[in-house]
Amino acid sequence: MWLTLTILLAVALAVLVIRYLQLRNALRRAEQDAGAHIEELQERYQNQALHVQTQQETLFNSMIEGLLLLDEHERIQLANRAFTQLFGTPADLRGKTVLEVLRQHELAELVAKVAAEKQVLGHELKLGGLSERWLQINAAGIFNGDGKKQGTILVFHDLTRLKQLERQREEFVANVSHELRTPLSLIKGYTETLLDGAKDNPEVETKFLQTIQRNSERLQLLIEDLLTISELESGRLKMNLQSVRLRSLVDRVLEDFKTQAESRHVELKNEMPDLTARADSDRLQQVLGNLIGNAIKYGRSDGHVGVSGRLANANLVELCVHDDGPGIPPESIERVFERFYRVDKARSREQGGTGLGLSIVKHIVQSHGGKVWVKSEPGKGAAFYFTLPAKHEATN
Ligand code: ADP
Repeated sequence: MWLTLTILLAVALAVLVIRYLQLRNALRRAEQDAGAHIEELQERYQNQALHVQTQQETLFNSMIEGLLLLDEHERIQLANRAFTQLFGTPADLRGKTVLEVLRQHELAELVAKVAAEKQVLGHELKLGGLSERWLQINAAGIFNGDGKKQGTILVFHDLTRLKQLERQREEFVANVSHELRTPLSLIKGYTETLLDGAKDNPEVETKFLQTIQRNSERLQLLIEDLLTISELESGRLKMNLQSVRLRSLVDRVLEDFKTQAESRHVELKNEMPDLTARADSDRLQQVLGNLIGNAIKYGRSDGHVGVSGRLANANLVELCVHDDGPGIPPESIERVFERFYRVDKARSREQGGTGLGLSIVKHIVQSHGGKVWVKSEPGKGAAFYFTLPAKHEATN
């Protein structure tokens, strides 16, 4: 009986031990599984956080505007690529204040002001230095649900190009008014003098009337050139592109300048090979006319003016109008294509120039997708070059 009991107890104990060991193993396995699962979750979360951060950074860095994100202590948390490029600062600005980085008190004041106000504040900032720059800055506080400030966001727009265009427009209007005023006041003055009695003196009457006529022609030329420029700049102008045989076109334009050239004893030469361009024939005549007219006007009397050309590459023809006059001084080379720029103002006016010819040339050439430039050595003449798309006869 005792023996049976002992055996039974031993069997029960053995079963319990086995069961205990099984449970312990199962627990360990469950622990290991849970650990692995937690690790996996952690990794996934980190990957997701990294992904969001990368996405954010890519988004901020792809912005054209500079962006600065400050924390609640007004220290930089994030500066995007456009910002660091705009100000030439190092890429990592974390922890610094706006004043430390930019040394702009106006900006530090803006940051302080935005902390007190719950609205977007705008500010225009002009940066000095080698090249002037204008920035529009919009700043706003970031608040949580309880209205507690979490940080500040500043967006920097570069207004430099806009400001430059605004300035150019103002200068243009001032120049146009000035250019119009001179012939107009001469016309007015001479008309008044005629009405005041000069008309009874036949000798001065004719002289005065000729002055009035010359100035009204000048006014007309100026207005025509201004209209051409406004048409070209508006982008409304349609280029009527066709195959243009350059040699015969140059012949036609030179023919128009025969009388003008003869009056200065200038020899005109068509050196253009038989090339074909893809261009608007009327506009191209205008370009050649302006360049040939200038070469005759500003070249020397008894001089030579030639028009040459070559195939610069398979897709481009290069044309050149050259003279053997006094040329253009090096300091003016870059500027002759500007509106109203003249090397010698008195000479240009005396020759009936409006100061707009070369800027019209530049516009037309650029509308063809070409480039224009000038080479000149003082005393050795000037050569104006421009390119046009070549037309291949085979692909006609
Ligand atoms: P303008 O009506 O005064 O001729 P343009 O725009 O055609 O105006 O030319 C600008 C200036 O460039 C001229 O006033 C002149 O001083 C200079 N220029 C143009 N062509 C020549 C040239 N072939 N030789 C010397 N100077 C030139």
